[in-house]
Amino acid sequence: MKSTAIILAAGQGKRMHSKVQKQFLSLKGKPVLYYSLACFQNSPEIQEIILVTSAESVEYCRQEIVQNYGFSKVKKIIPGGKERYDSVFEGLMACGECDYVYIHDGARPFITEEILVRAEEAVKKYGACVVGMLSKDTVKIADENQMIAQTPKRSQVWTIQTPQVFSYDLIYKAYEKARQGSMEGITDDAMVAETYGNLKIPLIEGSYENIKITTPEDLLIAERILENTELSGNIEGAEKRS
Ligand code: C5P
Repeated sequence: MKSTAIILAAGQGKRMHSKVQKQFLSLKGKPVLYYSLACFQNSPEIQEIILVTSAESVEYCRQEIVQNYGFSKVKKIIPGGKERYDSVFEGLMACGECDYVYIHDGARPFITEEILVRAEEAVKKYGACVVGMLSKDTVKIADENQMIAQTPKRSQVWTIQTPQVFSYDLIYKAYEKARQGSMEGITDDAMVAETYGNLKIPLIEGSYENIKITTPEDLLIAERILENTELSGNIEGAEKRS
């Protein structure tokens, strides 16, 4: 069984209002992207990593991140595309032969080995799985006038994280089909698999700490999470290689 991780780091991060893209901002002295790469590098579930970044960041990633921290599982560093789904497709095309693919946002530094183990079990059983958490808040669906249209049962509302994990053939074919039409509004990979892959996808538990760093306040939260993890001595992945 061979599993490849596609780590996405080609976003421009406009909501961060910073010249540095969010995945390269410093989090306790290391780039945000370092932490997720470290977790996948250390995971026995993963054999290869494809890193997708912007064309102008390929060299930076190669020297300052991959070589500097010795991420030997990174086999390719490739330029992404305009939208997240374009970057994912570039990543899928760059994968060599593999059975499973773990698609992960490089802007989510707190992915853990436990989550990867749960994901591996689920993808082997169901052919796909998506990491998320039950929503702590009540969620309202609004109509076009910002009036409440619906209140879904909170026990069935999940907020979705990454990785999203699939049988390689299934997700590649689903993306190929999806790309024949408009992909506007596609914000995650499960949407592609749900629509074009014709299968039931289980949700598996991630963690409330598996946040995506999007805005400046997220970076402050991330620092606190990291301090906590360091204090509890539970930072295996990240600290072994530094
Ligand atoms: O923009 P968003 O927050 O949804 O981005 C999620 C992840 O996808 C980030 O890690 C970002 O770097 C990546 N991304 C990408 N290519 C794009 C847009 C986003 O790799 N064109």
